[in-house]
Amino acid sequence: MKFRVNSEDFNKHKDIVIGNVTKWSDKAVCRTIGVDSFYHIEENKLKQVAQQYCVSCPVQNQCLYTALIIKEDHGVWGGFTPRQRRALLKKLRVRALQKGYDFTIWNNKLASFIYKNTQIQKATEILSS
Ligand code: SF4
Repeated sequence: MKFRVNSEDFNKHKDIVIGNVTKWSDKAVCRTIGVDSFYHIEENKLKQVAQQYCVSCPVQNQCLYTALIIKEDHGVWGGFTPRQRRALLKKLRVRALQKGYDFTIWNNKLASFIYKNTQIQKATEILSS
């Protein structure tokens, strides 16, 4: 499941998020590791990679948030596999709807909701709930 938002405001936000990658990626634990390691097809291998590298990465929050905003379907981002990110988004969508936010309408409240709930500790809690 992806965000279905495709408004001008959302696209502007996405551009900012993409631009920010150059700022945080210098601190990424994976910056010296071949990108292929993060794009194994098997879920279990992806989870091993996440355990090995992402848990100690200082930019894990930014990485997960970026993956969700750019609608990245592949690879480990922020320590979350594609399957986990899809599950997280489903749960976030339900929680957002309960709060009266619609995933199809991008605004500051939804942006703030997504940002808060994709901080790693919170996202992990939500995923396991
Ligand atoms: S969280 Fe993982 S995938 Fe993201 S930058 Fe850090 S090590 Fe790389």
